[in-house]
Amino acid sequence: MKLNSILLLVILSAVSYAAEIALVRNGRAEAEIILPPSPSPAERFAAQELQYWIREITGAELPVRDTGGAEGVKIFLGKGNASEFAEDLKALEGSDGYACRNRNGNLYIFGSIPKGTLNGVFRFLENNSDIIWPRPQYTVFSKQKDFTATRIDELDRPYSRVRGLGLTLVSGTLKDSLWRVRNNENWSKASAESCAEWGMQRELGGHIFARIMPEKAWFKSNPEFFPEIRGIRRPGGSLCLTAPGIGEVYEKNLSGWIEERLPMDTLMLGINDTSIVCRCAGCLAPIRLPDGSVVTKDDPAFLSTRWYLFVNPIAEKVWSKYKIRTLVYAYLYLIISPKVRISDHILVSFHPHPRDMKTTYEDCKPLKGSEDFGKLLLDYRKVGKEIRLREYYGCNGGFPRPDEYVAVKDMRFAMKHGVREFTAEHPVDRDASNWDPMPSAYWDANAVTAWTITRLWWDPNQDLETLRSRFLERTYREAAPAMKKYYRRIHDLWFSKPDVSTYNDRLISTSKKYFIETGEEQNLRALLDEAEKAAKHPVSRKLVQLARAAFDAGCGLKSRIIVKKTGAEPGFDSPDWKETSVFSDFSTFAHREIPFPAATSVAMLHDAKNLYIKVNCAEASPPDPQAKGGVFDQWIPGDFVSLHFAGSRKKNLHTLSFDRYGNTFDARRSERKWNSGMKVEYRRGETSWEALVTVPLAALEYVPEHDKLNRIYGVFHRRHTPPGGEALSATSQGVTLDNVRSYMEIFLER
Ligand SMILES: [Zn+2]
Repeated sequence: MKLNSILLLVILSAVSYAAEIALVRNGRAEAEIILPPSPSPAERFAAQELQYWIREITGAELPVRDTGGAEGVKIFLGKGNASEFAEDLKALEGSDGYACRNRNGNLYIFGSIPKGTLNGVFRFLENNSDIIWPRPQYTVFSKQKDFTATRIDELDRPYSRVRGLGLTLVSGTLKDSLWRVRNNENWSKASAESCAEWGMQRELGGHIFARIMPEKAWFKSNPEFFPEIRGIRRPGGSLCLTAPGIGEVYEKNLSGWIEERLPMDTLMLGINDTSIVCRCAGCLAPIRLPDGSVVTKDDPAFLSTRWYLFVNPIAEKVWSKYKIRTLVYAYLYLIISPKVRISDHILVSFHPHPRDMKTTYEDCKPLKGSEDFGKLLLDYRKVGKEIRLREYYGCNGGFPRPDEYVAVKDMRFAMKHGVREFTAEHPVDRDASNWDPMPSAYWDANAVTAWTITRLWWDPNQDLETLRSRFLERTYREAAPAMKKYYRRIHDLWFSKPDVSTYNDRLISTSKKYFIETGEEQNLRALLDEAEKAAKHPVSRKLVQLARAAFDAGCGLKSRIIVKKTGAEPGFDSPDWKETSVFSDFSTFAHREIPFPAATSVAMLHDAKNLYIKVNCAEASPPDPQAKGGVFDQWIPGDFVSLHFAGSRKKNLHTLSFDRYGNTFDARRSERKWNSGMKVEYRRGETSWEALVTVPLAALEYVPEHDKLNRIYGVFHRRHTPPGGEALSATSQGVTLDNVRSYMEIFLER
């Protein structure tokens, strides 16, 4: 997209190639960092970070001083050192943008506020070395003996006023916060000290609207403040917004809540995560608006009109008392804009949920049961002064979903309508094994999405492909060509299907749809292999390996049953058994908590004509299998193994059963006289016995080419009586025997 002329006025970015300035030469510091007079915490932090990263890169420490000595290059930080750049400061005013200048061989990095200086330091480092902060847990850069600034003269003013991921799932670490700071994000829930140091606007609160009136303190004395549901007052959900006196009490409580937590820039006064509202006569009564019109309870805007009438005066008071703006969630029943003007001191945080993550606002076709969020956003724009777009980009369940392609269009749409604040929910980069998938898995699969989105928020008119290339080249280096192909292919697969994508798609089913069923799994894995071989930088290689692990987890590689194709009829010891999947995840049927005492494994081979199944059964003292038992037309009494298959069409169930004495039984559905043509051989081990079953695939109703993934379906079962115990049944993954839908997929290799 080309920049339009209005935006060119906003983005006063100019790059010219001034003389180089050497800061470190041959491992020796040649420059010093000069703080402005009375530096703010963010300016001190800017000096610290500049010093830290140059030391990480070169091993040399640039001293940080209050005033410069006579000798050497100076790096002047902050507005207090930039008085001779009045024009730049004017251009940066009211933003956290930055300028970087070379004046007489000295370097100046500054903003019109301390956060601008801090932002400038990170971009200076990025522009003058190969460093990237791709995700919270990892940084990639080269160690080198020199640090020479070559790209200096630059001024960059962001389009957005507020930007940053809202990191969720488990509490983040310092690394998560620092990643946000180093990538120019500017709001946080951290401590006042940290926010001052990182130049972050401090936003506190959340789903707290009703919590301001705690049930414990108020329900007994004032049940009328709580919602009436079917004639009964009870705490939970929202509050009764028309109870006499509630406004005054609410304001008082809210002041207490705020004063315990000051300082803050924004109070997040979000409704609870529920649509429960008060249904009392007062709350459901028609609302007469100042212009004389009436809004009745059947109007879609009724609930939000009622709510803003309550919250507007509260936000006014909060502003006049504390100079804090009130953020509210346009979410659930509040996604419909009210029929009253919203206070100028309210920031509306617009939460489009649930939305189709493949469709932009511009060409939104609402999901079933969902809304046209583009239209709703514009409706809000008409009654509210400040709107923030609060998205769900990157909430992908661990699948490498290219959300940035939708996000960039959404941002430009929002920009066109004056939206200047952006955020999105996103998991932290932290291993937490009690979450599935782990929060870090989102970053393993797809850090490129989170990084490009946060960079686009700075200025949505940047070129997305340039940003993606920058990320991929710096992060993966020698492996970048393969990783580019990998992500490009996923992008193409993703957008070639019309299927809807929503909040936290399920990883396994999404991978199956886009990778396995398209027949692209091997190609994508080959690209990851190629990338791993090409990677030289240890962090790059590690990140490729993590992407590979995320990809394999999505494809369910460990749990998938792949049946190797064999050239010759296999015996018990054929080397092909080493190449095929071995399934051993048996659980005591209906009682998964009881461990199944006899290890059992199943491996299969096929030659397109027959299926060969090797079953290994642990047995404390295996009897000599005589292999001369009878052929049964009913279930074998006592212990046995049964293998159940549904063919390509999942139509009929086929049972193949045998025991260690050579008895066999087979059936198609309830047809017990049916004969599959199965053949069973046995052999005895020290602590186990083995059976090798051969059965014609046609008997199992396998149809070649019926299914492009060449699947049949099955479940395995063993009945076993431990010595002195009672008979126990176990099945593969604890699956039931009679429901074809729960059968495992068995992939026959072509
Ligand atoms: Zn009420």
